[in-house]
Amino acid sequence: MRVLQFSRTSQIAVWLTREYGKLTTIVKGAARPKSSFLGQYDLFYSCEVLFYARERNGSHVMRECSPTSTRPVLRDKWRAAAAASYFCELASKLTEAGESGPVLYSLLDYSLDFLCANPVDRSSILWFEIQATGSVGFAPRLSSCVKCGGTPASSDGLFSFSPSGGGVVCDKCTEQYRSDLTTISSDARDAMLRWQAAGGPHAAIMGRRSTSERLIGETDPLMRRFMEFHVPVPLVGRGIVMELMR
Ligand SMILES: [Zn+2]
Repeated sequence: MRVLQFSRTSQIAVWLTREYGKLTTIVKGAARPKSSFLGQYDLFYSCEVLFYARERNGSHVMRECSPTSTRPVLRDKWRAAAAASYFCELASKLTEAGESGPVLYSLLDYSLDFLCANPVDRSSILWFEIQATGSVGFAPRLSSCVKCGGTPASSDGLFSFSPSGGGVVCDKCTEQYRSDLTTISSDARDAMLRWQAAGGPHAAIMGRRSTSERLIGETDPLMRRFMEFHVPVPLVGRGIVMELMR
């Protein structure tokens, strides 16, 4: 997910792994001309990594690395690369070191492959956000009140939605979320439910372009505010990637 220069010759590589969640490795001598690590890892690669586990400071020493997928397309197509960067940023911020995350791992792996083979738009980004937050246990709650589980309040096709509460709110509970209550149309709520259920960005495509633009226009700021409350570290890349996808 990230590669950083650590010293003149060493680098730090931050991974998302199926077995250990987020993992940080120090790659000693990575920048030496004859390093066996040259070309073996980079952003958006999938690799097999052998490392010496260090329990104490959370940075492990990489011993061997070999790529299983290098995704060269992500070095050529700037839209796909921008989306890939944001996916990695979000995945990184959703995981803590050592926390196991096989679902998020599979999602990121699948989504990076998807970006290599398909056009990307804001709908794909929203799909990833909804899936990624869901994979770590806090998907937006859309079918029942976040507080009491009751039927969400709806009038004129609009539901009350609380970004801090994490989803739709019923009539009885709206008072408690008064400070950050907003609304979501039933169309947009249905679109978000489809994104939650869909196995890939394709499955979430929403028909006519004008309809899709309207739903994205409504859902985008809602997800931004939702994640401001639920992702522990601010997302730097979100504004940029959404602007690029227009
Ligand atoms: Zn309620």
